[in-house]
Amino acid sequence: MNKEDFRRFGHELIDWIADYFYRIEELPVLAAIEPGDLKVQLPSTPPQKGEPMEKIVNDIDRLIVPALTHWSHPSFFAYFATSTSAPGIFGELLSAAFDNKAMLWRTSPASTELEEVALNWLRQMMGLDGGMSGIIYDTASVSSMHAIAAAREGIEKRIREEGMSGRADLPLLRVYVSEQSHSSIEKGIITLGLGQRGMRKIPTDDEFRMDTKALSAAIEEDKANGFIPFCVVATVGTTSTSSIDPVSEIVPLCEKHLLWLHVDAAYAGSAAVVPELRYILAGCERADSLVVNPHKWLFTPFDLSVLYCRHMDLLRRAFSLVPEYLRTPEQENVRSGSDYGIQLGRRFRALKLWMVIRYFGHEGLAQRIREHCRLAKLFASWVEESPDWELLAPLPFALVCFRACRKTGGETEVARAKRLDVLNEAIMHGVNATGKALLSHTRLRDKLTLRLSIGNIRTTGKHVREVWELLNEQLERLA
Ligand code: PLP
Repeated sequence: MNKEDFRRFGHELIDWIADYFYRIEELPVLAAIEPGDLKVQLPSTPPQKGEPMEKIVNDIDRLIVPALTHWSHPSFFAYFATSTSAPGIFGELLSAAFDNKAMLWRTSPASTELEEVALNWLRQMMGLDGGMSGIIYDTASVSSMHAIAAAREGIEKRIREEGMSGRADLPLLRVYVSEQSHSSIEKGIITLGLGQRGMRKIPTDDEFRMDTKALSAAIEEDKANGFIPFCVVATVGTTSTSSIDPVSEIVPLCEKHLLWLHVDAAYAGSAAVVPELRYILAGCERADSLVVNPHKWLFTPFDLSVLYCRHMDLLRRAFSLVPEYLRTPEQENVRSGSDYGIQLGRRFRALKLWMVIRYFGHEGLAQRIREHCRLAKLFASWVEESPDWELLAPLPFALVCFRACRKTGGETEVARAKRLDVLNEAIMHGVNATGKALLSHTRLRDKLTLRLSIGNIRTTGKHVREVWELLNEQLERLA
């Protein structure tokens, strides 16, 4: 593509994106297509000859956009609502243009050093201490897996050299998580060859927080059985309810038994940039590692997950392997990203985070997250004031767990439980089918629970009011 064409199509595409954000509310939030609908419209063989850019962009409008679920729609309230932002998009664009593979310092000094600077800024904004050093991965799933690998390296059982299979000298290794922990932790444990038996789920209290007494008893019991407890994963902002495990109570247990404490703050860690919410990370100053995802609640386009770690030496020991063709004269004096993980080449992700932080500033980021929390509390107040709805979990952040609970006479407990499950699922599908908003669900104490998550940069009070009206319309239709 010559310079003039690049400029022309580039400008047109930026115009296209600007229009997309302008008209996004006219689009259905959830893709209104059936499985396979897109595939049948696309040729099954690649084009033999190159095609004009106009034709490709036309197909994006005609075929791709209708097959998108619009995460950037302001009424996307499902899962953890997230959104991209203008400075983040520009960062992605530049990163694709540079196409650096930041595996060694010399293959991308800018990426390596900007990563340290941006993560140092984020660490300060979150109020984490200077003993925590950061590294960027793609997702929290990968960050947590690396943290557990570093923890395992720390038990000095020569697992890097000898592996875990066929070893009579290696008892069962255990990681402790709450029953509300994210499935990514279990997947990481499976991937590391620790096996699902290597993970012990600890019950939670009335507010879905890890029960530290049960944790203590589990560790003692495992030790008495000759197992090796080596890691606890606490969550600050669990996926179902955003509950906060009592990290300050878990820390002394980890210190007593010499266990690595990893904190999964993938969602809620970003909230610590709001000064009055910093308390959510109480105790984390004594954690060994912590993951936070700017792609979840810091207006940074997917993907960008940060692992803060106090023992980069162990992470390095677990993963560094430098063949001759990667040896460089400066390697002893610089950081090379590939020493700290499974990946060799690494995207220049720090650029978008650096641009996001610079564009919004600490205050701008904090103000947006604070507003999301305010809107969630406002929605929760409507739920609480209505006899037809109830809250099913506390809301420390911007996630509301609730359900319709309209009464009908002469019903057994069992019949009522079943009816409300069916009703709430139908309400959710009813709202989602309008295309005007998107909600998701979970199960809490065996009750189907609706989740409304506010995290989108474009969401305002108007959108929250509209989804409340949609929910009530569905209730009237279905109850
Ligand atoms: N941890 C928590 C608490 C989450 O809520 C999620 C996803 O929602 C994850 C981890 C996994 O995130 P990722 O998609 O970045 O792997």
